[in-house]
Amino acid sequence: MATVVQKYGGSSVADVQKLRHVAERVVRTRNQGDAVVVVVSAMGDTTDELLAKAKEVSANPDRRELDMLLSAGERISMALLSMAIRELGGDAISLTGSQSGIITNDRHVDARIIEVRPFRVQDALAQGKIVVIAGFQGVSYKKEVTTLGRGGSDTTAVAMAAALDATYCEICSDVDGVYSADPRVVPAARRIGTLSYEETQEMAEAGAKVLNAQAVEFAKDKGIAIYARATAGPLPGADPSSDGTVVRRHPPRMPGTVVGVASERDVILLESEVAPPELLALLDERAVAGKQLHVASGRTTLIVPRDNLHDETRFRDALRESFGARARLIDGLAAVSVVGAGINATYTNVRGGSQALMAAGIPPAAVATSSFRITWMVPRAQADAAVRTLHATFIEATPPLLP
Ligand code: ADP
Ligand code: ASP
Ligand code: MG
Repeated sequence: MATVVQKYGGSSVADVQKLRHVAERVVRTRNQGDAVVVVVSAMGDTTDELLAKAKEVSANPDRRELDMLLSAGERISMALLSMAIRELGGDAISLTGSQSGIITNDRHVDARIIEVRPFRVQDALAQGKIVVIAGFQGVSYKKEVTTLGRGGSDTTAVAMAAALDATYCEICSDVDGVYSADPRVVPAARRIGTLSYEETQEMAEAGAKVLNAQAVEFAKDKGIAIYARATAGPLPGADPSSDGTVVRRHPPRMPGTVVGVASERDVILLESEVAPPELLALLDERAVAGKQLHVASGRTTLIVPRDNLHDETRFRDALRESFGARARLIDGLAAVSVVGAGINATYTNVRGGSQALMAAGIPPAAVATSSFRITWMVPRAQADAAVRTLHATFIEATPPLLP
């Protein structure tokens, strides 16, 4: 019997009606003869609401306590979904991340899965049960409850699919696949039929929320296909790649092809003249995640996303106490990126993008490149305009990607 993993995001289980629809979709899948594991996110904006409550109580909430709080969101939806499935005659059992064997490191609020021991899940599947797992959470070797960072239910689903050797992992959301840009920002965005693991990972790291970057790593290791689909859409038909987006091993495209544009709005730019080892030691001590580290001529810059930085004031205080004016946090910028393998083989794309932004009245504050990505830092208020400009330049001006 094939095992499939389905993940349903917060918007798909926002209320009881939607939860019932998900339960029906799960039961229909089970009735097709597959063993089904379901990973579920917290209902609607529950995680944001819990975070807001924590902030009311404490400006710098303790990370362990935050994990105890935030993990409750997914426990609510797993139990309710399991009940809804049982109401339809399905034999479901809900399990927390810890009960499912999701073992993480002890970096609270932003933990990484280091091992999956899915014995209870396998036992329940062997008994013919539908297993409903709370996404976004695990347990550390110290037996502490941890959460996996915002958007982490995708990671639970794909890591579980890899551990169970599932046939595929379906990520079901309010959008029917991965688009060339966020369709909420760019109405002309195109759905991408097939993406490679590398392209998807870059898109996710550049800010495309539809699939979490860490999740892709697990799929890539095991070669598991991920299908991004709309919860409201049909079940996979005879040809599972005929709708949505499939992420799998994919032959390279024409070098230089831009597959998508993504943005990360809520970031702070760290700029410092402190010796890098000293500066980074403080970031490690405070468990502050950063990306695109750049050191040159005695100056270090780093982009710090705000998603999992829930104790920002304490971090600001620590920087000030340790380094004074030698380390600054610059707010008000966003990172806007174009993604595609080999897009920097020549300077054509970085020149074209920079010119287009200037012409649109969006002078970039900084540019960084890698073999897969070009990132411009632009004023946050102009981030959406920058995404639309880059999409018009690189995607709308070219024929659609081959599948
Ligand atoms: P879920 O709660 O199901 O996990 P998310 O909000 O995390 O859903 O992700 C889905 C959202 O991601 C969509 O509503 C869409 O606005 C946004 N999004 C951002 N970039 C993209 C993209 N490139 N393709 C599709 N959706 C995207
Ligand atoms: N509920 C968590 C969040 O809002 C995890 C997820 O939705 O994937 O970030
Ligand atoms: Mg998500």
